[in-house]
Formats: sequence, C-alpha cells, structure tokens
Amino acid sequence: MNNKPRIAFFDFTGCEGCQLTVIDSLENHPELLEAVDIVQFREAMSEKDDDFSIAFIEGSCTRSSDEKRLEKIREQAALVIALGACAHLGGVNAVRNIQPLESVRRCVYGEKAEVYETSIAKPIGDVISIDGFIPGCPIDPEEFIRGVKRLLQGNRPLIPDYPVCIECKLRENACLFQRGKVCLGPITRAGCGALCPSLGVGCEGCRGLIPNPNITWLKEVMAEHGQSSERISAKMGLFMTNQILESEVIDVES
Ligand code: SF4
Ligand code: SF4
Ligand code: SF4
Repeated sequence: MNNKPRIAFFDFTGCEGCQLTVIDSLENHPELLEAVDIVQFREAMSEKDDDFSIAFIEGSCTRSSDEKRLEKIREQAALVIALGACAHLGGVNAVRNIQPLESVRRCVYGEKAEVYETSIAKPIGDVISIDGFIPGCPIDPEEFIRGVKRLLQGNRPLIPDYPVCIECKLRENACLFQRGKVCLGPITRAGCGALCPSLGVGCEGCRGLIPNPNITWLKEVMAEHGQSSERISAKMGLFMTNQILESEVIDVES
C-alpha cells in the first residue's frame, strides 16, 4: 500500500448529480487523481475498500438505517465532508419535513407505504459531526477541487460566508428586484458566481443561508417591490426548509 491519502465517496438520498460533478471535475484535474487513492466510489468504480481517511458524503439522511451507516463512516474517517445541498442542508428532500410524514409516504409509495422505511430528511451534520461542506445543487466543480486541495494541505474547505448579491454586483448585473422577480441572493451563501441571477433567474438559495441572514429586511424590501412574504417563504422552502425550521422563521403544522 502507498502513502497517498485514501478517499471514499458515499451516497445517501439525492439525485447523484453531485457525484457526477465530481467525476467531471476529476477528469479535468488528472493531477489530483495522481495525488490520492480513491478506494470507494459506487458511481464511478466497482472496487470497494473500507480503509479510507477522507469521506465525501452526498445525499441526506432519510432512514434510521442511514444513521447507522453514517456512524460507521464517521468511525473510520478522519475527515467527513458533506457534498452538496442534500448532505449539507437536507436539500430538496427536506420539503417533506413540513408535511405529515404519513401522507408523504402514502403519496410516494401508495399501497406499499408500509413496506418502505421513510423518515424526515436530515443534513448529515444532524446525525454525525462533519469537518466541512461543499455547498450547492449541484456542487461547483472548481470549488470541489479547491476544497480537496485544501484538505490535502491540512486545511478545511474555504467556503464564502457573504451573500450572492456581492458576486452579482461584481458582475454588474441589474438587480432582478427591479424586474419584479423574487431573488434570495441577499440571504444566500455566495460562491457560485451569482449563476442564476446572471441568467435572469432569481436565486433559489441552493447554497444555504449566510450566517445571520436578515430575512425580515429581505421581506420588507421585496414588499416594496410588490412581492408577498408568502412568496418569499415558499421560495425559501425549496432548499432552506431545515434552516428555516431551526431558526423558527415559519410556523409548521404538527
Ligand atoms: S445537492 Fe442537488 S445535485 Fe447534489 S445530490 Fe442533492 S439534488 Fe442531486
Ligand atoms: S439580482 Fe438577486 S443576487 Fe443580484 S443583486 Fe439583486 S437580489 Fe442580489
Ligand atoms: S444563484 Fe442561488 S440558486 Fe443559483 S447556483 Fe447560486 S446559490 Fe444556487
């Protein structure tokens, strides 16, 4: 066995788009493939070795069996990194968390509802301790590569904690507020280069909330532009459900 860092990729509940982005980014960075040993990556290889030191985890935790699997990964890995919005935030899967679980299960599985184990969708950081995250849906390929390089140098991935609006202004975009569109850029973590607003689409918040987001202010400003508080809350519900629930920004029916 050589002395290269041994890396494993794991998938839980998600669409596997982040893993595909990893494959794409590694194809463009063969130097990284030379520097590490990838020992487990179901999406890309059939070999499987349980001796690894860095674990990247895609997908949210939606079953009690997932929790046991996560704990086992945590026991083995020196570093655990959440990969993408599902693992980092619970992702789109977490929209189920504000609906009665029984009706969600029946809607998805119909008559077989009792057969399948389903629970609320949790970010993996709610189940095990994590050492960092790469946000986004999907992840940004270059941010992933930078994150891996930092890990190999003994540092954590460096993820912006300022809002998308900063990158949007640096790109000299006209603000979508002026065009009657809802945009979550003021409260969403930057790092994507204001991708969506630059294409004329309001930010959906896939990289999660910035620290100390001023949601009240956002709603006030949006109200001045004719947008209702409900519309903003609905938009936040796509990726930020768990963060909203934790901050008790919205009421949830029991
Ligand atoms: S974060 Fe998005 S792209 Fe990644 S697994 Fe989840 S749904 Fe798929
Ligand atoms: S379009 Fe969105 S991201 Fe850009 S400045 Fe306006 S609110 Fe911020
Ligand atoms: S603009 Fe918002 S929704 Fe679009 S990629 Fe960036 S963080 Fe995600």
